[in-house]
Amino acid sequence: MNGALMKDAHGRVIDYLRISITDRCNLRCIYCMPEDGVTPLCHDDILRFDEIVAIVRVAASSGIRRVRLTGGEPLVRKGVVNLVREVANIPGIEDVSLTTNGILLPRMAWDLKDAGLKRVNISLDTLDAAQFTEITRVGCLQDTIDGIEAALEAGFRPVKVNAVAVRRLNQDFYRFARMSVDRPLHMRFIEYMPVGGGEEDPGCGWDEGDVITCDEILSIINDRAVAEGSSPLVPAEKSRPVGGGPASYYQFPGALGTVGFISPRSRHFCSSCNRLRCTADGKIMPCLFSDDRYDIKAAAASGDEGAIRAVLNEAMGRKPDEHHHRVGTERGMSQIGG
Ligand code: SAM
Ligand code: SF4
Repeated sequence: MNGALMKDAHGRVIDYLRISITDRCNLRCIYCMPEDGVTPLCHDDILRFDEIVAIVRVAASSGIRRVRLTGGEPLVRKGVVNLVREVANIPGIEDVSLTTNGILLPRMAWDLKDAGLKRVNISLDTLDAAQFTEITRVGCLQDTIDGIEAALEAGFRPVKVNAVAVRRLNQDFYRFARMSVDRPLHMRFIEYMPVGGGEEDPGCGWDEGDVITCDEILSIINDRAVAEGSSPLVPAEKSRPVGGGPASYYQFPGALGTVGFISPRSRHFCSSCNRLRCTADGKIMPCLFSDDRYDIKAAAASGDEGAIRAVLNEAMGRKPDEHHHRVGTERGMSQIGG
């Protein structure tokens, strides 16, 4: 059944599964979780690795081709290298990637590469050390920079670096984008999303006024480029990084990398949504902006392939046509995995 295609009720092919392997994190980013963190899941509630492997096996036989491990911070979970190896060896899985804050990459990048990890996305919102600590509350900029270096040295390609753009932070977008010039880095901007915090505190302090649209970021970067006597960004056609995501890519002429824009607020890409999400406690989520979720943990624990497939199919059948600009979900990004 490895040739199977999984289509949802709106005709979209679903071939991408994002799996959060932990809700724990070594940072406390202001747009992702409250200052005192979120109540961690009990050990028994978290999907075991054999349960994750069972889910991916069935998902692969139903048409899932790419898996991304995320969190919380996926690299804080013990044994993640072995999990990568097992998932990468599942027939039908063509691509295993990881989203990380990069802090643990200097000690783990080579083992992850050896285990079959193809690509990493690293989150970094600013190149200003004080602002980095302000945003992450407890982090140190150099740790994430070292993580990016380790990812490049270990040979991951592409290395994508993701920044959440938040107006009140007044980040230096131009300096961030210019990191794509001398290194094969794909620097991407993500519009601030009102996920988590419920309707009372959506997106942990999110406010519509804090959303900077990708069009505005592009203008800010290009105005600055012109003011500094360099060329503005142009659409990147030939050197787009691989991946099935919704970003649009640009490039400074002659740059080794690209600059990408992900605009879930201003230009939602629901019509090309290709993914399901699985939370660390084994809930399949059809949409990031919905509290709809389907429990797969019991099915995975039983190892019953039919039961696992039934949950995947049910969640897929419930994928909404679009997110309708929902503001505030029960679960935050660190609990869903972004
Ligand atoms: N800890 C890892 C990391 O930071 O890369 C993986 C998990 S994190 C929840 C996944 C992604 O979600 C990160 O790129 C993060 O910047 C992004 N994210 C978190 N909260 C967000 C928000 N409110 N709006 C947009 N992106 C957000
Ligand atoms: Fe942790 Fe990633 Fe959330 Fe930051 S964005 S708090 S690194 S899970």
